[in-house]
Amino acid sequence: MSIYGDYIKSVIRTVPDWPQPGVNFRDITPLLQNSAAFRKLVDSFVHRYQEMDIDAVAAIDARGFIVGAPLAYELGCSFVPVRKKGKLPFRTISETYTLEYGEAEVELHSDAFREGDRILVVDDLIATGGTMLAAAKLITRSGGQVVETATIVDLPDLGGAQRIREAGYSVFAVCS
Ligand code: AMP
Repeated sequence: MSIYGDYIKSVIRTVPDWPQPGVNFRDITPLLQNSAAFRKLVDSFVHRYQEMDIDAVAAIDARGFIVGAPLAYELGCSFVPVRKKGKLPFRTISETYTLEYGEAEVELHSDAFREGDRILVVDDLIATGGTMLAAAKLITRSGGQVVETATIVDLPDLGGAQRIREAGYSVFAVCS
């Protein structure tokens, strides 16, 4: 957890029963409206990764883009979008993963980075960990070296971070 973890958590709103009954949705829009909080959030990631020789920030569609783009800018590295199926126009490789009901797929352009590049994967939240794990696996399959997977919020009760670690990837969360 980051030194700003408690503060960042305090500006994230929980919306019960959205988008369906039983889900406590972590809404980051109040955080984004608060420029001081957003700066502290991005700085938490910058501080952690600025000495780690990151070649690319791979951010997951769509809320991962919000932190991934300023982070790549600050780190002076490239930005790689990991997108939901059917959004990328060039040659893609994809990874399918299981949702509670059905399947989902994440995609990457085949020329998104070079073999051996050091990649940081970012998203807004880890719930079951399926999305982050699929993105990390996709990057590994593409020849990238996943330095860490990073998120604003981890929901530890759902076991996602543990599942990602068991698959061999490091996990960092600003708050949980
Ligand atoms: P999962 O693959 O189960 O770890 O789900 C993580 C992805 O779904 C992230 O891209 C989140 O944006 C989204 N997500 C899942 N659960 C929530 C939640 N309770 N609040 C906000 N976003 C969520």
